[in-house]
Amino acid sequence: MPAKTVNDIVALCKRRGFIFTGSEIYGGLGGAYDYGPYGVELMKNIRNAWWNAMIYSRDDIEGLDAALITNRLMWKYSGHEAGFSDPLVECKKCGARMRQDKMKDQTKCDNCGSTEITEPRAYQLMMGLSIGATADGAINAYLRPETATTTYTNFKNVLDAKPHKLPFGIAQIGKAFRNEISPRGFVFRMREFEQAEMQYFVNPADDEKYHEMWMQERLSWWINVLGIPAEKLRFAPHEKLAHYAKAAVDIEYEFPDGFDEVEGIHNRQDFDLGSHTKAQSDFQINANVLENRDSTTKLSYFDPQSGANFIPYVIETAMGVNRAMLAVMLEAYEEEDLGDGKTRTVLKLKPALAPVKAAVIPLARNVPELLDISNDIVAKLRKMGIGRIELENSGNIGKNYRRHDEIGTPVCITVDHQSMEDSTVTLRYRDTMEQVRVAIEDVPMKLLEILNK
Ligand code: ATP
Repeated sequence: MPAKTVNDIVALCKRRGFIFTGSEIYGGLGGAYDYGPYGVELMKNIRNAWWNAMIYSRDDIEGLDAALITNRLMWKYSGHEAGFSDPLVECKKCGARMRQDKMKDQTKCDNCGSTEITEPRAYQLMMGLSIGATADGAINAYLRPETATTTYTNFKNVLDAKPHKLPFGIAQIGKAFRNEISPRGFVFRMREFEQAEMQYFVNPADDEKYHEMWMQERLSWWINVLGIPAEKLRFAPHEKLAHYAKAAVDIEYEFPDGFDEVEGIHNRQDFDLGSHTKAQSDFQINANVLENRDSTTKLSYFDPQSGANFIPYVIETAMGVNRAMLAVMLEAYEEEDLGDGKTRTVLKLKPALAPVKAAVIPLARNVPELLDISNDIVAKLRKMGIGRIELENSGNIGKNYRRHDEIGTPVCITVDHQSMEDSTVTLRYRDTMEQVRVAIEDVPMKLLEILNK
């Protein structure tokens, strides 16, 4: 059985060092979390799996890593400064502030149940900054609320440096900041979070074909790479479209308290490049864009075959990396009944995502011969460059197995007295708890087999 509640994961994350409350020793800060030793590894592995699928496995997508602090004109023309807001309501009785569209019942306060609720008002979600030696500390820049806009504003830079024919894409992974009214659901809704987004530039005539293609590609990645069962995922088309979108579909995962968004796949038509381009009147822009008098660059595409110069459409895939990690942990988490009143908690992660790839455990503590053999194995495995390999020299084998089950280490390698005689070790598999004896020289190959499963 996967985790029954998010609280199972919250407890595991704290106990085993995946995620801690941000600013914890000073009472915390809403919507901010710190990733601990195993959380950083799991996040890195998810990022790498995404980068691998989006960039290393294809010829048509380039990578980008743009700045987090951004000129405010970027957000004027993207429409965020005027329109990136959520409807905020306040309870007149207890003072709770809530996002109206996410309330359990829009006529009652989520906190105290009172029906005395204020009218909604638009609440700006971007975090403003005062950069440089400004006299009055006025906002003159923003922390980006998503990675997409900095991708659009680099469209020409990337295309000039690495020419492509349509369709082609630009992908970014990085932090985004939103002043969410009510952060909730652990890392589900935070004020500082991470996105993995890809903008695919297409000929306007091909938009629907590529929207469909990316929906299928992304769904299959969630299933095959992250290991989420297909029946726990679904497409949810947006009923109300954002002003820039021609079509929008979310991938939703079934969290313990219901389906919710983990990734969006949007047909943004020519809104973005059309909004940020210089000389808008040179092009036929379909979307409703603000007149741009500040841009210094034409964000158009010249088709050498037809001789046409036009603004491509954009199909966007936008995933939350933290939400992906939460879904992966919820799905991998199991409490197994071992009989005789004993249970074990195990994180059955795909081996490629596991924070620790293998633990090497001398059966007795501080026995020099056992430690020498263990250190040799660790050194060989580390040279393979496959990720984190841990040496456990505490002598408490039961405790070590329990810890590595809980952090999802796919295999433990135990070195005992027999190892000194015949150069073999025991491999103990996480999922089955099966133990097999193998020659030390075969361990690297065995480990690669496990990781490629
Ligand atoms: P929501 O409707 O949940 O506020 P959104 O539709 O505004 O999300 P997008 O702007 O499409 O989200 O962002 C893409 C992805 O980024 C989302 O699918 C989600 O996984 C992630 N994401 C968005 N906001 C947050 C947040 N506050 N905390 C964590 N992840 C987030």
